[in-house]
Amino acid sequence: MTRDERRMTVSRGVCALGIDVGSTTVKIVAVDAGGDLAWHFLEQADPRVEDQVARLLDRARKETSQTSEVWDVPLVATGYGRKLVRQAGRQVTEITCHARGVYRELAHGGTLVDIGGQDSKVIGISPKGDVVDFSMNDKCAAGTGRFLENTASRMGVPLDRMGQVALAASDEVSISSTCTVFAESEVISLIAHGVAVESILRGLHRSLIRRIVAMIRTVGLVPPLMLSGGVVQNQAIPRMLEQETGEKVVLPSYPQLMGAYGAALIALEMRV
Ligand code: ADP
Repeated sequence: MTRDERRMTVSRGVCALGIDVGSTTVKIVAVDAGGDLAWHFLEQADPRVEDQVARLLDRARKETSQTSEVWDVPLVATGYGRKLVRQAGRQVTEITCHARGVYRELAHGGTLVDIGGQDSKVIGISPKGDVVDFSMNDKCAAGTGRFLENTASRMGVPLDRMGQVALAASDEVSISSTCTVFAESEVISLIAHGVAVESILRGLHRSLIRRIVAMIRTVGLVPPLMLSGGVVQNQAIPRMLEQETGEKVVLPSYPQLMGAYGAALIALEMRV
């Protein structure tokens, strides 16, 4: 199994499925009758979405021990490519699905920040779990995983070490470029001038965090501050977000799966 493929096998009966076709990764989650996460799988997004979805559904059927050829487990699709999932009974926005997944696990309202590969969202969730407000950035890569990924790869730092390296820096360089493409050039120039990789990385994280904080302000921060999406697995993100906001940050157990999990919970309600 590669780093980009993660799964968990189960023995509990699968009653509903959710699939999150993101711009960077595709996540599929199965839940049992009680709505607990029973199985999941994640892999990098393939541009041939329909083929990938068919393959993942087949895998879900086989790995959750569904032997019947007729498999009528309800399916809800979310994410950027949700409209291409013709097998889904419903297509639901990522905002609703992330809120649903996180609310089910953390059981309280607050402000949820989802940072994905190519977009980021701030979602206000009421004490009863309803989405009360949101803000979304899908136009500019600077507040997304892509921003860190591109620049870190320029410095030869692997994705899963970026946060650790940034946190280890003793100082921080201010990155003035507000666009990913210009930031990459700025990083190359800083490296050429002998600036330490850790300090540049810390500055890049700061830049991303400040963009997220600006989005949080447009929605209004109602504590607790909760996080979802693949980027929050980078340990510097929660830490620096706490520093910038002064609020404690709460994470669900599987932040990157929250969209697919929320979709599966909605699918569970579709059962007759
Ligand atoms: P999407 O739903 O938009 O496809 P995801 O929520 O799956 O995005 O997040 C994908 C992003 O998560 C990638 O851009 C990658 O940079 C980031 N990511 C995933 N795992 C890690 C990790 N361990 N450390 C840092 N970043 C990570």
